[in-house]
Amino acid sequence: MFVYSDNAATMPLSKEAFEAMLPFLRDNFGNASSVYGVAREASRALYGAREDVARALGAKPEEIYFTGGGTEADNWALKGTAEARRERGRHIITTAIEHHAVLHTAEYLGKQGYEITLLPVDELGRVTPEQVRAALRPDTILVSVMTANNEIGTIEPIREIAAVTRAHGALFHTDAVQAVGHIPMDVTDLGVDMLSLAGHKFGGPKGVGVLYIRKGVRITPLLHGGGHERGQRSGTENVAGAVGLAAALTHAVQTLPETEALVTARRARVIEQLSKIPFSRLTGDPVHRLPGNISFVFEAVEGESLVLGLDMVGVCASSGSACSSGSLDPSHVLLAIGLPHEVAHGSLRLTISENNTEEEIDYLIEQVTNTVTRSRRMSPLWNEEAQSPTERFWTPEIQRED
Ligand SMILES: *Cc1c(COP(=O)(O)O)cnc(C)c1O
Repeated sequence: MFVYSDNAATMPLSKEAFEAMLPFLRDNFGNASSVYGVAREASRALYGAREDVARALGAKPEEIYFTGGGTEADNWALKGTAEARRERGRHIITTAIEHHAVLHTAEYLGKQGYEITLLPVDELGRVTPEQVRAALRPDTILVSVMTANNEIGTIEPIREIAAVTRAHGALFHTDAVQAVGHIPMDVTDLGVDMLSLAGHKFGGPKGVGVLYIRKGVRITPLLHGGGHERGQRSGTENVAGAVGLAAALTHAVQTLPETEALVTARRARVIEQLSKIPFSRLTGDPVHRLPGNISFVFEAVEGESLVLGLDMVGVCASSGSACSSGSLDPSHVLLAIGLPHEVAHGSLRLTISENNTEEEIDYLIEQVTNTVTRSRRMSPLWNEEAQSPTERFWTPEIQRED
């Protein structure tokens, strides 16, 4: 059996996206900025895609800017705000658990003379509006807090944090790359100034994303050139990409209530079964959690060896974040929630989707359980008699009712 359970890394292209893209990869190849027929087709399709994305997010079409992916959208939000507001202040607030697209951009800005505050998170990975309020200063120009974490699935109280930020007068950006298409997202209801998303995290193509910029908010462009995207993001438009992203998003949003309920129920089953493995712990918030995210730490095993072992039986999973695999440091997210290094090394992230069948879920549970048991037998860290070399860490599992 083959089970793809790494949907937070990327999702397969949906049928809807593929079919919507085909004409623009073949016959309607025109440059959306030209004036003849084949170009007008492209420009109409691009506008349609913009309208569809706006509708899916509760935005206006003129607030939607297509980018080359989630990373570019995050870079633009941070660097564009920093530059546009540099005379007002140089202080930026973000969190210790952001994706590297935000974190490394913030570090870069730190070297350019901006002051960065990295808010810590609690053991479930949550940031509070009170923390943000306490960190805001007269010279704060931007607060960037992710909607949902890509490793541990924790969903942050974005509406409340946006309200605190906007009452102060700073801009609020959220990296919603993991959230859009998976949980309800409405920019008007959330009250955000900027929001990043990436097509390939909800069944669209890779290399295309969106930065939503609320009307009236001005940030400096990242890319200068021919003045595409109303002068804000130059470069010949990726028409097929935008059309594919819009088709995938429209489908994801239309089917969201059923998908969210289905995936959440399957997630609960996997978590319940994997929690039976001795010396295992769910990481992230058990309640405020992305539907498909199942992230665990298992004592006395290496996450990387679990991933390789699972690959041999046809299961695609990841350890920590795909972006940091290959490095020996445990993920910054797992360290930020307070896990000791040796425990953080035993992390496994499974991210399921509506594409996974019940049979695949059964197989997943069986293979993860077997792989952990097998890896432990081979591990010098695993002591069959004492059962746990770091017993003190395994306090009763954190439970939350709200
Ligand atoms: C995947 C991801 C990104 C980067 O998006 P790309 O399209 O790969 O550039 C940014 N933030 C989060 C939370 C992500 O999961």
